[in-house]
Amino acid sequence: MKDISKPDIATLVKLQEAETQIVRLHSVLEKVEKEKTKLTSRLQQFAKALDQNQEDLAKAQAACRDSEREIQIVDDRIIKSNENLRMVKTNKEYQVLLREVDDNRKRKDALETELLEFLDEKEKSEIIAEESKKEYDLLAEQISSQQAEIEKKSSDDKELLEEYLEQQKNIGKHLEPSLMDRFRKISKMNQGEAVTGVDNGVCLGCFMNIPPQLFIEVQKGASLISCPQCSRILYHVNTD
Ligand SMILES: [Zn+2]
Repeated sequence: MKDISKPDIATLVKLQEAETQIVRLHSVLEKVEKEKTKLTSRLQQFAKALDQNQEDLAKAQAACRDSEREIQIVDDRIIKSNENLRMVKTNKEYQVLLREVDDNRKRKDALETELLEFLDEKEKSEIIAEESKKEYDLLAEQISSQQAEIEKKSSDDKELLEEYLEQQKNIGKHLEPSLMDRFRKISKMNQGEAVTGVDNGVCLGCFMNIPPQLFIEVQKGASLISCPQCSRILYHVNTD
């Protein structure tokens, strides 16, 4: 194990403080991103429902228009047949036209019954589409203000993260690259904790007892000691 000076341990402790904050802020910002995605996808769901409801309404409106147009056509036919009735010469022609008028009237009755159903359907669709639009607008407003609030909060955290990254970089300048590499590796293995205290012979990283001889070495602080359990670099914490 390479000998280190006491200031090196102090520097590593400082580096650890920055690292801990960086890991914490990364996790906070990651959660923020997830929260934002969740809000966006919730709004998208409502938008999809609104689209569907508006589509249903458009279909219902088209059905009404088609039905009304068809009634108009049948109506025109009835008028025409009635006009023709006045000009017929033979009884046979008269009977044929009379039947035509009768058939068209029945057809018109059926179409009008159908139209009532279509109108009823359209009315229901209008109410649903209107409510859906209101719900969407309300949610869009809520989500937009929530997003803004999240954005504001996370911009403070982003700033803080920048500060700690800068701090980490500056501290790193005072450390040997090999020591820095070691720090990185151990940090990666231990969720961002590479340096930890030893209190009464207990590693505060993994809470295992370290061998007494090693504890003495840590107390001396003359060399860089790693915990045999978790590999974290150890420093002595004086709680007395
Ligand atoms: Zn340990």
